[in-house]
Formats: sequence, C-alpha cells, structure tokens
Amino acid sequence: MASLLEVLFGCSHKNFSFPITKRPGQRLSPAAQLTGTYVACLGCGKEFAYDWHEMKIVEANNIKPNALAANAAESFAGK
Ligand SMILES: [Zn+2]
Repeated sequence: MASLLEVLFGCSHKNFSFPITKRPGQRLSPAAQLTGTYVACLGCGKEFAYDWHEMKIVEANNIKPNALAANAAESFAGK
C-alpha cells in the first residue's frame, strides 16, 4: 500500500520488493526493459530497473544511450 504522505510529498524509495526477472515473451514495464529485472518500491509502487551483476538499482538517467539502443534492438529482434 502506498502511503498518502509518500504519494503527496514524494517517496524516498527505501524498501524494495525482491528483484523480479521477466522472462522472454512477458510484457516488460519500462523499468524492466532496461535490464530485464526490476524491483518495486514498497512505499509507492514505482518500479526500478535492477542489475543483478552490480546488485543494485539502475537509475535510468545513468544508462548510456548506447546501452539503451542495444537493449531496444534486442527487444525488437527477439519478439
Ligand atoms: Zn517509493
């Protein structure tokens, strides 16, 4: 449940669900499209891309455009 205060005043995203890995063929949320794995904030429900290798959340702003393009190309090729 997202708390009303967090929705109104912003969420600090402190608590996350266990990382969820999407399988090929499943519809990916925008967050999951970055790495194929995502975690959801238990406070507000927002989804974040998660990097298993780095064991951390991937900020979309930190993704290099080249990496995004490569991911997009894979998505199109693997449909
Ligand atoms: Zn949050």
